[in-house]
Amino acid sequence: MFTSQECDNCKAYELKSQLRAMNDMISAAQASVSTLELDSLLNAILRGAMSFTEMPVGRVALYDTRSGKMSLRTHAGLKSDFVVCEDWTVVPGSLTDQLLRQNEIFCIEDTDQTDLFTNHQPIHEGIRSLISIPLVTKSAIHGILYLDDFLPRSFDKSRLAMISVLASFAAMSIENAKLHQETHKMAIMDALTGIHNRRYFDEVLPQEFERAHRHGLSFSLLMIDVDNFKLFNDVYGHHLGDRILVTIGRVLRKTLRSIDFAFRYGGEEFVVILPETALKSARKVAERIRQGIIVESRKLLRNDGDKPVTVSTGIACYPRDATYSEELVAVADQLLYLAKNMGRNRILAREEEDR
Ligand code: GH3
Ligand code: MG
Ligand code: MG
Repeated sequence: MFTSQECDNCKAYELKSQLRAMNDMISAAQASVSTLELDSLLNAILRGAMSFTEMPVGRVALYDTRSGKMSLRTHAGLKSDFVVCEDWTVVPGSLTDQLLRQNEIFCIEDTDQTDLFTNHQPIHEGIRSLISIPLVTKSAIHGILYLDDFLPRSFDKSRLAMISVLASFAAMSIENAKLHQETHKMAIMDALTGIHNRRYFDEVLPQEFERAHRHGLSFSLLMIDVDNFKLFNDVYGHHLGDRILVTIGRVLRKTLRSIDFAFRYGGEEFVVILPETALKSARKVAERIRQGIIVESRKLLRNDGDKPVTVSTGIACYPRDATYSEELVAVADQLLYLAKNMGRNRILAREEEDR
C-alpha cells in the first residue's frame, strides 16, 4: 500500500512526464509546420517524430496515387547500403496497402515475437521494433512515416495517441507544401506551350550567371523569334498560330538537355539558356531548333506550297560577349534584330574566334 504522501509523489511524477510529453509533442508539431518547402518539411517531420518517440531510425515515403508507388523521400539512422529500394509499388493487400487505406498506426514491439512482419530488409538490418504511421488527410493519402529501433520496445498508448495527432499535423503540412509546390510550378510555367515563362527566366538568368561566374564556366543564351508571325496569323488564323507556338515549345523540349532551360519570353519570342555551353555547341543547338521548327510546322500546314514556319536567333555567350546578365540579353537581342534585317530564318552570333 502507498501512503498518501507517496501517492501524491506518483501523481506529481505522472503529471510531470505528461507535461514533458506534451512539450515534446508541441516541438515536434511546430517542426511539422515549419516550412512550405517539401523536402525540408519531410526532414523536419522525421526529426521531430524520431526525437518525440526516441527512435534511432526513421524514414518518410510518399505515396503517388496515380502510379500506385511509394518513394523514399528522406531517412535517418540507416546504413547507406540499406537504402537500396527508393521506389516500390504498393501491392494490393500488402501491409503498406492496409496501412494506407485504414489510416491506423501499426506497431511491432518485438519482431522476433511476431509473424506479422516479413520484410526481410529491416530484419536483416537488425530492426527489432517499429512504428508505421500513415500520413493521411481527409482529402488524400500522402505516405507513411516509419520509425524503427534496434531494440525491442514497449510503446505507451498515450504516446501513440499523440503520434497520431502529430501525424495529422504532418499530413496537413505535406498537403500544404504540395499545394505550394504546385502553385509555384504553375506560376513559372507558360500555360500555352508548357515551357517556362518570362517570370522564371528572370529568376534563372541571374542564378545561372552567378554559377558560371563562380565556377569559371561558360554558358549561352539563345533569343529566338518567329519570322513574320503576324502574317502567319493573318493567313492561317490565330488558332493555327497558337498550335505553332505549342509545336515550338515541343521542339525546344525535345532538342534540349535536361540541364537546359527554355522560356516563352513574350508572344512569339523564346529564350533558351544552355549551361556550360560555349558558342560552337550553342550554334549547333540553335540550328537543330531552327530545323526542328521547320520540319514540325510543315506537318501542321496542309498544302505542299505553304511556306514552313521559320525562326531567327541571336546567340550570346558568357563570358565571350558580356560581363553581366542584362548585357547578355541585350547582345542576343541586337543579334536577333540584325538577323531579321538580314532576311530572317538565320542564326547570328558575334563574329569572333570561338572561345
Ligand atoms: P518578325 O519576323 O519581324 O518577327 O515579324 P512578326 O510578324 O513575327 O513580328 P511582330 O512583332 O510584328 O508580330 C508578332 C506577332 O505575333 C503578332 C501577334 O499577333 C503574334 N502573336 C503574339 N503572341 C501570340 C499568341 O499567343 N498566339 C498567336 N497566334 N499569335 C501571337
Ligand atoms: Mg516575330
Ligand atoms: Mg517578336
